Amino acid sequence: MKDYLVKAFAYSKTVRLYAAVTTNLVEDARKIHDTWPAATAAFGRTLTASLIMGALLKGDQSVVIQIDGKGPIGKIIALSNARGEVKGMVSNPHVNLSTNEGKLAVGKVVGNDGFLRVTKDLKVKDIYTSSSKLQTGEIGDDFAFYFAMSEQIPSSVGLGVLVSPDGNVISSGGFILQVLPGVSNETINMLEKNITNMKPVSDLLQNGFSPEDLINEITKGDYKIIESMDVKYVCDCTLARFAKGLISLGEIELQEMIDKDEIVEVICQFCNKKYDFSISDLRNLKLEAKSSNKD
Ligand code: ZN
Repeated sequence: MKDYLVKAFAYSKTVRLYAAVTTNLVEDARKIHDTWPAATAAFGRTLTASLIMGALLKGDQSVVIQIDGKGPIGKIIALSNARGEVKGMVSNPHVNLSTNEGKLAVGKVVGNDGFLRVTKDLKVKDIYTSSSKLQTGEIGDDFAFYFAMSEQIPSSVGLGVLVSPDGNVISSGGFILQVLPGVSNETINMLEKNITNMKPVSDLLQNGFSPEDLINEITKGDYKIIESMDVKYVCDCTLARFAKGLISLGEIELQEMIDKDEIVEVICQFCNKKYDFSISDLRNLKLEAKSSNKD
C-alpha cells in the first residue's frame, strides 16, 4: 500500500478525524538515519503525528515538532507542511530497548522528563510556539495531552509502528481525532468506547488497514471523507542554503577554514546528503560575508 493521509469529518461535522498510513516513509527515514527498532518506533510515531499536524495547516504553512524526554534517544525533531511532506532527525539513532513483554519500549527510549514543543509558521506576523510536559514518552499520549493543554482541543491520538526482527518497518501509521465545538456527550461517549475497544493501531495496519479503514473503525461508519493526499519523506536542502549557513559564520571563521586548506564537507542532518565546498568556494563565501557585513 502506498503512503497517504485521509481527512474526514464525522458525526455531523462535530468531530475531525485525520488518519494516515506511513509505512514506506518511515522505512525511508529508518534507512537514512539507521535507527534501531525502538528508535524507529519513536521516530516513526513522531513523523506520523507531525504529518497529520501538517495536514491540519494550509497553503505554505509549516510545523516543527521537538520532543526531548531526556531518554537515551535524545532529541526527536520533525518538520512537516500542509503538502504532506515530512523530514526529521533523532540525536541517537542507535538505541533499542524492550519491555518485559518483548515489545519495543518507546516510552523508555524517549523518556518523560521533558517537553513536546510545537512551533508553527502560519505565515502571519509571529511564529506560534507552545509546549506541554511529556506524559509517558509513548508519543501518542503526549500529543493528546499537548492538544488538550496547549490548543484546548480535546483529542485522541493513536500511533503505531511495527518493526520486524531484522529492523525493517512492517507497518506504520496513525490517527488524530479532535472534537469540535457543539459535539454531544453521546458522541464523545461512543467515540471513547470505540477507541477503547479498538485493537492497537500497529496491529490494524499490519492486517492491511487503510486510513479509511481506521476512520471507519473509530466512527463505526458515521463519517465523510473530505480529502485524500499522498505523504512522503522529503528533504528540501540545497547547496545555496548550506552556503548561506557558512556565510553566517563570518569572515574570521571562514578564513580559519581556508587556512586549513581542506575541502569542507557539510552533511545534511535530515537526509545525509553531502555538500562539498572547495577552497575557492570558501574564498567566495568569505567575500560575501564581508559585503554582507558592510550592509
Ligand atoms: Zn537534506
